[in-house]
Amino acid sequence: MIITGIGSNGGIGVTTLLANLFLQLVNQGKDVYWLSLSNLVPPVFYQKDMKWVEFEPIMREVPSWNKHNCKFCDECQKACNCGAIARYGEFYVIYTELCISCGACVYACKKNAINFTHKRVGYIEQSSLNHRVFRVNLNQREIFSSWHCHTIIQKLKKNLSEQAIVLIGFPSGFRELWADLIGLSDKIVFYTNDIYVWEMLYKSISHDQAEMILAVNSNYFDTFIERGYSFGLSVPHTKEISIEAIQGKPVSDEGYRQVIDDLIYTLNLSDNA
Ligand code: SF4
Ligand code: SF4
Repeated sequence: MIITGIGSNGGIGVTTLLANLFLQLVNQGKDVYWLSLSNLVPPVFYQKDMKWVEFEPIMREVPSWNKHNCKFCDECQKACNCGAIARYGEFYVIYTELCISCGACVYACKKNAINFTHKRVGYIEQSSLNHRVFRVNLNQREIFSSWHCHTIIQKLKKNLSEQAIVLIGFPSGFRELWADLIGLSDKIVFYTNDIYVWEMLYKSISHDQAEMILAVNSNYFDTFIERGYSFGLSVPHTKEISIEAIQGKPVSDEGYRQVIDDLIYTLNLSDNA
């Protein structure tokens, strides 16, 4: 089961919530894994002497240009909707960080001057001290896209049992990828303090996709209640909670622990579920 956390705000939010959910599920003996779709993992996962070990490379087909076959007709450049091919006199540069590996340029070239090559664009890493914790490390100029979401999640899934629960931490922002993540997940935990972002999302998705679980910063929960979203989980947000999260400790606040239990129940992950 894939459970992804999406948040409309940075700071102590959905990642902390999911990390504490992860710890609680591990305590309960569940087959649960953490995957950060970036190289950032919550501080609570760092341990003394921990290293990151390559788990699987991420390979991508990217076009390469062969000057000797080229007739400088510009057809490849015209075919590229991503602006990834630039011509400088009698030289073409392919900016692979903009390329989405669609193959249009390869197809457009009738002179066999553009061909796909297999390029390593990053890798999935695993914590040396916790085999359940993974993160993604992309090459410096590689821009995270829908292709990466699909490829990385599928790669991890194929290495785990069908019953495994994977909690996916996703950096805040990157809203253009929310639809992909919803399509790839069984359940989405959406944490926000912004009713307008929630309403935009809630109204725009088809609800036979991933099940949406709303979690709201408690300081803003009344606004959500007034608008009829009383099903949301009200997540305490205090300075003490932030300090514990930043220091890499499990959150001890009783109200917060209760929200984690409620989340487990809502996600249908209770022992008796
Ligand atoms: S594969 Fe597609 S995106 Fe990449 S350079 Fe060719 S046309 Fe552009
Ligand atoms: S389509 Fe092929 S021949 Fe034409 S400019 Fe591009 S690489 Fe050269």
